[in-house]
Amino acid sequence: MTRKDFFRMMGLLGISSAAVPVSGFAKTGSKNFSSKGKARLVWEKKHLNLEHPWTLSRNTSLFKENVFVHYEKNGITGIGEAAPNVRYDESWESTFKVIEKAKPLMETANPWEYVDLGYSIMAIGHKQNAAKAALDIALMDWIGKSLNIPLYKFWGLDPSKTPLTDFSIGIASPEMIEKKVREAAPYPILKIKVGKPNDEEIIKAVRSVTDKPLRVDANEGWKTKEVALKKILWLEKQGVKVIEQPMPAGMIEEMKWLRKRVHVPLMADESVQTASDIPGLVGAFDAVNIKLMKAGGMQEALRMIWLAKSVGLKVMLGCMIESSVGITAAAQLSPLVDYADLDGNLLISNDPYVGVKVVNGKLILPDGPGLGVKPRKI
Ligand code: MG
Repeated sequence: MTRKDFFRMMGLLGISSAAVPVSGFAKTGSKNFSSKGKARLVWEKKHLNLEHPWTLSRNTSLFKENVFVHYEKNGITGIGEAAPNVRYDESWESTFKVIEKAKPLMETANPWEYVDLGYSIMAIGHKQNAAKAALDIALMDWIGKSLNIPLYKFWGLDPSKTPLTDFSIGIASPEMIEKKVREAAPYPILKIKVGKPNDEEIIKAVRSVTDKPLRVDANEGWKTKEVALKKILWLEKQGVKVIEQPMPAGMIEEMKWLRKRVHVPLMADESVQTASDIPGLVGAFDAVNIKLMKAGGMQEALRMIWLAKSVGLKVMLGCMIESSVGITAAAQLSPLVDYADLDGNLLISNDPYVGVKVVNGKLILPDGPGLGVKPRKI
């Protein structure tokens, strides 16, 4: 049909271009698309208590101090969260510094140009991506709320396609591992942290309680390819379905050697932070663990998902220890991915927010606009 024919048909049908709604957004009114109006960025630190001491191959934590940002404009407030991580030289103090630097930009930029604004946020200083994630999450929450639609809908995703999330068991004594595994009864898949000398003891403790499928995360704990090979060949016999980050992040050549000798899929976590890391992982890993806090927000995480898929890597959406703000933000993208490890909010005892729910392991997205997150009623 030529352009002329199209307009003739529209005329015959009595449809003028003015009467055609612009997708589902027409109801929100044009005032919401205004870039006028003053914007305000405020932020605060919150102390999040862990249900159990959280031990990985590199450190132990009893609590986390995460940073929450609020972006207000036109009477609408978007919320975002940073979970600073010592592995990436981040703290709440360094996070505050980046947010302070971003304040003039966030308060003067046009939020509807969120792609441009997102790239400008990414360009503020070196790394400190948790701070950048908080800004991007708040921006996207504001966009969704302004359009009055959930973010999964904004990105064209089917909320029924969310994957099952696993539940993580940190390193502990065999007795404590058994207790934690029993507490994790509602979750059909477990992710077990290893990478210290007692790996076999930990897996045996898990297996004494459950025969559920396991994912194992060594958090860079095995320092040579020979050690990693020996550990993985044993773990394959224990019903382990995925091995995450067996060796230190930079050991890509050793990972290629290892991958030829094992059968279980190998997943990159610390070896991948942003999209630019992904092409170099082909041949070394089978899957990538994408986290908003490493990526610097939802927009970069989305770019990473497309890129990983296009080079044949499976995708997990993972998390740090985060409240329901950060976890729900990641869950909004989860209909696109193969695996989810979005349990950070379940590991803290004083989550200040409610958002995504987990029912028998399945992520259930809230249907409110933006992230769909609300403060928890105490
Ligand atoms: Mg990991």
